Amino acid sequence: MWKRIFGTSLLIASIAIYFDYTKPVYRSVKKRPDKHYDYIIVGGGTGGSVLASELSSNPAIKVLLIEAGGHESWISRVPLLAPMQMILDSTWNYQTVPQSHSHVGFHDQISTVPRGKFVGGTGNMNFYIHNVSSIEVHPKLVSALETSRQSPLLTSFIASNDSRGIFSTMSNLQKNGQRLSMADIFLKPAMNRDNLHVMLYSEVLKLYFKDNRVEIVEFRRKTNHFNVTTLDGTQVVLCGGSINTPLLLLNSGIGPKSVLRAQKASVQVSIVKDLPVGQGLSDHVSMPLYFHVNQSKWQDSVNLAKLLNPKHMWEYWTQGTGLWSSTHILGQALFPSDGTMILLYAMGAPNIDAFTYVSNMKRDTFNVLFPEHTDPFKEGFIMLAICLKVKAVAVRSGVKIGNSMSQVEARYHLPKFPECDQFQADIGNDDYVKCMIRVASMTMYHPIGTMAHEDVLNENLSVKGLENLFVVDGSAIGSLPSRFPNEAIIHLALKFAEQRKEEKGFTQ
Ligand SMILES: Cc1cc2nc3c(=O)[nH]c(=O)nc-3n(C[C@H](O)[C@H](O)[C@H](O)COP(=O)(O)OP(=O)(O)OC[C@H]3O[C@@H](n4cnc5c(N)ncnc54)[C@H](O)[C@@H]3O)c2cc1C
Repeated sequence: MWKRIFGTSLLIASIAIYFDYTKPVYRSVKKRPDKHYDYIIVGGGTGGSVLASELSSNPAIKVLLIEAGGHESWISRVPLLAPMQMILDSTWNYQTVPQSHSHVGFHDQISTVPRGKFVGGTGNMNFYIHNVSSIEVHPKLVSALETSRQSPLLTSFIASNDSRGIFSTMSNLQKNGQRLSMADIFLKPAMNRDNLHVMLYSEVLKLYFKDNRVEIVEFRRKTNHFNVTTLDGTQVVLCGGSINTPLLLLNSGIGPKSVLRAQKASVQVSIVKDLPVGQGLSDHVSMPLYFHVNQSKWQDSVNLAKLLNPKHMWEYWTQGTGLWSSTHILGQALFPSDGTMILLYAMGAPNIDAFTYVSNMKRDTFNVLFPEHTDPFKEGFIMLAICLKVKAVAVRSGVKIGNSMSQVEARYHLPKFPECDQFQADIGNDDYVKCMIRVASMTMYHPIGTMAHEDVLNENLSVKGLENLFVVDGSAIGSLPSRFPNEAIIHLALKFAEQRKEEKGFTQ
């Protein structure tokens, strides 16, 4: 085992050094902004990357993109490692307040809220699942979409067909084994345009208003402060994500009066507008279900020892294939009648240290949920996650689907949480299943809707009562998409850019 760890660490270190020396240099990256721009975009995540690229496609339009973080690390390229960025210093490090009804099995009933702070934003640390069926796929995305690898496990999952569900393989944004964000697909190819300026390590601190318009965008780059003044036609577009966009407005004096009054004592802001900013957050919930499978029927099962085998790392590094080239989320089943989605995770032995650190789950909860995880050589487990509408009946559907994966002889492991001792531990018992959900269900990391209140945004995504301020990110999406949110945010940004192009009468 130590040899494997040493070999793999050596390879990883070599790759890190290689990536560092081959970093591209982009002409659009600036150290100081110009005086004026047509568009000032705050945040270079999913929404901001698409928008900056689309709007700057006309050389006559001058665009400034301000991003609080720098370039993403090489880790975000490697499918298996990308979510590890949640434990690095490159996130905003947010947590929820203690929950009253959920997260009983988490420290202080608090959940983490990882948000990316680098070019590509949260889209650079996500599982890059991209469903294609509901919205026409943009040509730039077509060549980046790959479906999950075939495996006896996936075949077994799809064959377990419950007639109410739509079973499918996953599509991911990935090329040659490297995961892709909207920064890779949209922004970076535009980052040598003279009319696009990108300020990195630059956090927008406050907006100043005059006559119902944003007059000044104030930001800090390292130790320097900058104020960019808007002109008559300048539009300011907030793409900071579901947490940071409302936060910036609160810091600028726009929000519920009661909240602004409460914060006034510590932060000097005068009340500009009383709007229900920051309310209406919703998120997908996920309940992990753990199954034992017959490992002899499933050759490409994954465990920690296999992953640390330098052979697999080398295969990934030289050919872009193998265990490191996938998140191991292989399939999904959708139940349109009640909005349940079930995901098939093929990597069945999560690491207790990484999992509990990322999620804030207690180790005791983890141990009950995922037995036998301590042996890194052990194989033969899979996980299904019930997402979206987590109800007792949905959990039972998931257990039924898993147990009918007969080709791999799957058997559900019912966790016996001490917190649920008062109920009879039985998957048929609603009270026990509901208790399980309160103890161990967690976020899918898809928060949306914090700016979507009808009193906050107009239909054209402008902030009520302000002429040149718009929001184009997850916070502007009012109701949870039936599947993954990135696709909906991309669509929002493309539509917004399209409207601007029509208004200004420019073609690409
Ligand atoms: C672990 C994980 C897995 C996920 N898996 C999937 C998946 O498989 N499929 C999917 O569709 N979705 C997934 N998501 C969700 C998806 O990635 C997000 O919904 C999406 O990236 C949000 O896009 P956004 O544009 O709203 O914000 P973000 O992508 O978060 O971008 C906001 C950007 O703004 C910057 N910023 C914020 N405030 C400021 C400021 N004041 N000044 C300057 N810059 C600022 C941030 O640094 C960031 O770069 C996942 C999320 C997580 C955390």
